[in-house]
Amino acid sequence: MVTKNHERIHLDDKNLCHLAMSELEDLYTDLGLSTEELDLLDMPRRTFTVHFPVRMDSGKIKMFIGHRVQYNDARGPAKGGIRFHPELTIDHVKDLAFLMSLKCAVANIPFGGSKGGVVVNPKGLSRNELEHATRGYIRAIADYIGPFKDIPAPDVYTDEKIMAWILDEFERIKGEHVPSMVTGKPIELGGSKARSYSTSLGGIYVLEEAMKKINLDKSKAFIAIQGFGNVGENAARLLHEREYNVIAVSDSKGGIIKEDGLFIPAVIKHKNETGSVIDFPGSKNITNEELLTCKCDILIPAALSDQLNRDNAPNVKSKLVLELANAPTTRDADDIFFDKNIMLIPDVLANAGGVVVSYFEWSQNLNNDYWEEEKVLEKLKKTMITAFNDVYSLCQEQKCRLRKSAYSVALKRILEAEKLRGNL
Ligand code: NAD
Repeated sequence: MVTKNHERIHLDDKNLCHLAMSELEDLYTDLGLSTEELDLLDMPRRTFTVHFPVRMDSGKIKMFIGHRVQYNDARGPAKGGIRFHPELTIDHVKDLAFLMSLKCAVANIPFGGSKGGVVVNPKGLSRNELEHATRGYIRAIADYIGPFKDIPAPDVYTDEKIMAWILDEFERIKGEHVPSMVTGKPIELGGSKARSYSTSLGGIYVLEEAMKKINLDKSKAFIAIQGFGNVGENAARLLHEREYNVIAVSDSKGGIIKEDGLFIPAVIKHKNETGSVIDFPGSKNITNEELLTCKCDILIPAALSDQLNRDNAPNVKSKLVLELANAPTTRDADDIFFDKNIMLIPDVLANAGGVVVSYFEWSQNLNNDYWEEEKVLEKLKKTMITAFNDVYSLCQEQKCRLRKSAYSVALKRILEAEKLRGNL
């Protein structure tokens, strides 16, 4: 879904990379990695920059720049989104591709990590120009992507309509059907059921497993969610359907609270009618800052980065933080939560449900066997719970934060695959 918030999400990813890289540097020391291992992790396997012509509506040709980075593919074909953004740089794409390698390894799905995109402001293009730019980019990188090489997906400013053009262009070049070359496609072209809400549901599966570890009972769990877009709204809806008590939600205009629980279907209707969750009848308006520090048991940041920082972290009252957004917690806040014994489930694990269902989509395409929604959900649940327990066990063993153990699990899996291949 293309929204103006994606402008900000692109910036958030820069924070995510910065945070992850500083965390990883400490981890490299703790894990005692060899020079060979460090060199291998430091360098993306393949980095492409392409220049391609697009005929604009004026009849003139304009040259466009596209990037694609396949950071690591020791565990399987590279997997990562394609974004259209005017400030896209190859260095940022490299960092994001590395994080995708880690995310796929944490979830233990057989993919490496990649990322790519076109340097363009899609809002400045007509529909035809957008389609021609998409097709031009795919023609330029077609030899280097494919179901067993590198599989694109939607990202900032790209959506299922663009994935459909990508598929069509690739299939024209190859002269055959290859639905497994891209994920996030419309269902009619081989997309998977449940993908639209898989990030939120994957997070909920992980949350439920975490609640067992800290003996937090569903009936006593009051939940606050920051952000009411794709991820936040779906999380609120799914939690409500599972009879959780969501007491506070917010969007960019502000938040609302109702201590004995919000009726989420009515909040969604109110937001669709008025454009915001604020002024929902029977609730009290609050600021986003008040939402983050309200009296709740579970806090779910699902909007932007850097929301939980050294200023507000000491006032956070929840027992558990589920990072559905990318990088919502600064390192200072992370330390404060650790000291306060607040369990923080890191983004690399909490929001991996989207890429897990992408893997299911790829698998369904390859086998030409399409699953009912129940089967997708059952497999998503199993994958997310296993991933959580892998990370949690290591965290218990090493008495460290879940973020650190998630990265450790991922790095070990990647390095092990490299060793088995004889690359280390
Ligand atoms: P979105 O654009 O659909 O929704 C973002 C929401 O945040 C909107 O409701 C917006 O009003 C709200 N918001 C903006 N500024 C805010 C503020 N200052 N305070 C509170 N709320 C504010 O985006 P999304 O797809 O839901 O993504 C949200 C986060 O989840 C991002 O960090 C994104 O990188 C991450 N994420 C998304 C997916 C996915 O599948 N969509 C997967 C992994 C991670």
